[in-house]
Order: sequence, then C-alpha cells, then structure tokens
Amino acid sequence: FCRETKVFHNLRDPLPLPPESLPLSAVSFALSLIPSPLPAQPALVDAATGAAVSYPDFLARIRNLAAALRTGAGVSRGDVAFVLSPAGLDVPVLYLALLSIGAVVSPANPLSAPSEIAHQIRLSNPSVAFATTATASKLPAYLPTILLDSPRFRSFISADVAAAAAAQQQQQPVEVRQSDTAAILYSSGTTGRVKGVALTHRNFVALTAAYHALTREVEDELPPVVLFTVPLFHVFGFMMALRAVVLGETIVLMERFDFGAMLRAVERYRVTFMPVSPPLVVAMAKSDEAARRDLSSLRVLGCGGAPLGRDVAERFAARFPHVEIVQGYGLTESTGGVAGTRTPEESKVFSSTGRLGSNTEAKIVDPTTGEALGPGQRGELWIRGPTIMKGYVGDAEATAATLDSEGWLKTGDLCYFDDDGFLFIVDRLKELIKYKAYQVPPAELEHILVSHPGIADAAVIPYPDEEAGQIPMAFVVRQPGSMLSDEEVMDFVGKQVAPYKRIRRIAFVSSIPKSPAGKILRRELINQAVSSP
Ligand code: AMP
Repeated sequence: FCRETKVFHNLRDPLPLPPESLPLSAVSFALSLIPSPLPAQPALVDAATGAAVSYPDFLARIRNLAAALRTGAGVSRGDVAFVLSPAGLDVPVLYLALLSIGAVVSPANPLSAPSEIAHQIRLSNPSVAFATTATASKLPAYLPTILLDSPRFRSFISADVAAAAAAQQQQQPVEVRQSDTAAILYSSGTTGRVKGVALTHRNFVALTAAYHALTREVEDELPPVVLFTVPLFHVFGFMMALRAVVLGETIVLMERFDFGAMLRAVERYRVTFMPVSPPLVVAMAKSDEAARRDLSSLRVLGCGGAPLGRDVAERFAARFPHVEIVQGYGLTESTGGVAGTRTPEESKVFSSTGRLGSNTEAKIVDPTTGEALGPGQRGELWIRGPTIMKGYVGDAEATAATLDSEGWLKTGDLCYFDDDGFLFIVDRLKELIKYKAYQVPPAELEHILVSHPGIADAAVIPYPDEEAGQIPMAFVVRQPGSMLSDEEVMDFVGKQVAPYKRIRRIAFVSSIPKSPAGKILRRELINQAVSSP
C-alpha cells in the first residue's frame, strides 16, 4: 500500500508481458506457451461418453477450422460470432479457431430465452452464429447459422494434421492486434441491464501469462485433468479453457451439469482440478454421495464468482483434507482474475479471496466521500491493470459510469485489504440492505444461515418496511426432513449478529434461483417477496 497515492500494489513478482504494439492474438500467445513436446494426455474428454481428443488432434482441429471459417464461411477479422451451444468438445476448438483469425467470440447461455438472446444479439451485432440443432431455433432467422452437429461443421474441423498444415500455409496469416476485441461476454455489471463486455486479446494475453507463471509452482505425480463445472460462456469457464491449454491440462466437459455425474467423472477420469462456484462447495461438503466416491485424485477446487462462506470452506476442508480450495475473485469486466490464493498457506485464510494478481493495482474508495482508504478500511474496490475490459459495447454511458479516465474499474463490491495484502469481499454495494440506515450485508447472513445443519441453502434480500426502510428477509431451503421453524431460524441468526442485522421475515422455499455461474438471482426473489405479501 502506497500512502501517498493510496494505491494497493500486488505482492507478486511483476510478470513480463509482450510489448503492446506487437501484433499477437491470444491464441498465438497461448500456443507459444503450450508445453513442448505436446502433452501425451488428451486435450479434451467428453465426460458422458469418454470420447477424447489428443493434443496434436486438438491443435489440428483448431487450424483446420480457422482456415475453413475464412475460406468456407467468409469469417474475417473483426466479425462477431455468436455462440449458443452446450459445452461440447467442439466449443473450445471453435473459440480458439475464431480468436486465431481475429473474429470476436460472443458466447451466451444456451438455456436463455429467445428474448434474452435477442437482446444480446442487438448488443453484439454478430455476422454469424454457431449453434446446435437443439439451440438454433432460439436465434433470429436472418442470422447465418452454422450448426456444430452438421456434416458441414464436421468437414471444417476434420482432423487431418497434414491437411491442416497445408491449408494454413496457403493462407496469409491474419494480423491480429492486441487491442482488437477478442470476446464479448454478457454481464449486468453494477446495474440491472445486461451489457456486452468487450475483452481484448491483450486482456487474455495478460491472463494467460499469469496462468503460465503458475506452471512452475505446481508439480504432481498425476497428470493435470480439469473438470469444468462452470459454463464455457461465462468468463470463468472461458479463461479456464485458455488456462488448460497453456498448462497442457486435459479438459473434461459435461454438456449438462449434474452433481452425481460430476462425482462419477472425478472418479473415472482421475480429475485433479475443478473450477467451481461456492454452491458446489456447499453441496460437496454436505453430500453423502461425495463422501462415498473415490475423489482421491482431486487436488484443488478453484472457487470464485461469489462469496464462499468460511464455515463451508472449513466444513469442506474437514471432509476433504487433501483438497485445497484456491479462492479467486474477479468480474467479467476484469477478464476474471483480480485476486486469488496461490499457496496452501494463502488458501488457509478461508475468508479471503487471496492477494492481488500480477500487474494489478487496487484502490478502496469510500462510496460516499470518494476518498481512497487504507488497509483495514472498507470501501468500494477499484481495480486497474492489463485485464480490465475495453468497455461495454455500444454503451458509452455505462462504460463511463464503470471505467474512469485513469483506467480504474469500479467493481461495485464492498471490500477491504488487511495489512498482509489479503483481499476480503464484504458484500456487493449494489445489493446493500439498509435497516434504519444501518448497513446489513446479505452475504453475511447467508453464511450464517447455511452453517445451520438444518438449512441446505439460503438467500437474503431487502424487504420494504415502513418503519425501518428495509428489513432483511431470508428465503430458506430446509434440508430434507428438517422441520425448522421461523423462530428457530431467527434465533439462530439473532444470536450471532448485531440487533439491527436480525432477520425479520422468512419464507421457506424449495430452491434458491441462481445464475449458471452460481450467483443468487436476488432480483427474482425481491419481486417474488413483494408480489406475495
Ligand atoms: P461476474 O461478472 O459474473 O463474474 O460477477 C462479478 C461479481 O461476482 C463481483 O463483482 C463480485 O460481486 C462477485 N464475486 C466474484 N468472485 C467473488 C468472490 N470470490 N467472492 C465474493 N464475490 C465474488
């Protein structure tokens, strides 16, 4: 922490990056770092069928597809490609092929409603879409669409190594600038509307370099195998795919997430690493089946996207002492990685999301006065560095509200750093409950609620109240067989918080609505609460 500038600098070694002016795509950079000789383990595995693609085959498919998209489908540098597909083996190939020719990858949740997709398409303005027979009907008819499960696409990627090399030689390489947009991902940022987040090749180069730097720190007798429980269309999954390539990992994909299938896949493929969101840690800490399966290969859970409760982390650690939970904090707007734990010692600081990543700076800003604060003080986290987005596409106003002229990204998260540089996420400012003008962070109450053995899941929202302005309201999912009452829940929480933080209203529900990345859909709950008094 620098007292004069009030800026927190990272404690990691500075990471050298290629000069910004050098033409370079995120893919060329990633491929320059891929282990040599190529890993003998598969690059891709389909969890359900066991179908596998070797590393040489994977690279050949990328090259083939890149060449075919240019010549056969007329995709050029700067064109936006909308991707609407479950997480099949073709998806990482497609992403890397598109990036390598300077096309912009814009993936969306295949479970989205057509109206949501129409909104996203208005934002990103794609010239081509990639879908499957099952998802294509959600796309507007005017958009040229290539089906991943069509003979045409299969011929595009047909993995003939010699043909791929020949095809590539016949074409002028595309000159991709690092400042070019590489991907448009969708995020609501600090306000409710969904926006298109433009991430550049430079953003991905910086992140890929950071992952590569980790290789030297990780050594194990088991080959690295990553099971994706996070979606490939979210920044978390997107960057994990790039990470896997530079670290020579095997990517195991599940087209449809299922908890039991996930456990079986860990056992079957000797999975060593899983990127997860906190609800999965909760599920694993509580599930009987998880305790019965052979999960001995598992080394690390990379947990991020939402706050992980200390109790959950501790309960998980007690049950799976051989598995380290590496926490990470990031946003779509920062290409994911802002802060994370790196060593088992750092990971033991359960309530922290770790230290700032390489090349990243931070400020903690008092949301009311705008004053920059020091260690131990809470305020909005602002971040700056090479992974920060270019902006929201076609939305100068939202961009200006989020990114200031000096390059600081306002995260909307209430955070503090301790004296050792550990970052603590206290809550999302944008969702703060105010009880008689006192601040009540919902995340804090949720951590307490889920620590109750009779509670499977919970969410807390602000409920309008004449006297107090707002009161904290809890939606509670009971564990099967639990008869927990309103009073018992209120007492349990009440004993552990200041009086103004008490939960004053409760609804028992069967599940908490969550986004694919595992975040609670609070707005949905607020609407539900207000419409059913
Ligand atoms: P997204 O753009 O979907 O990744 O959402 C970013 C937001 O998720 C952040 O602004 C935080 O509010 C939240 N978030 C991400 N990672 C963490 C974490 N490790 N702990 C707490 N909140 C997190």
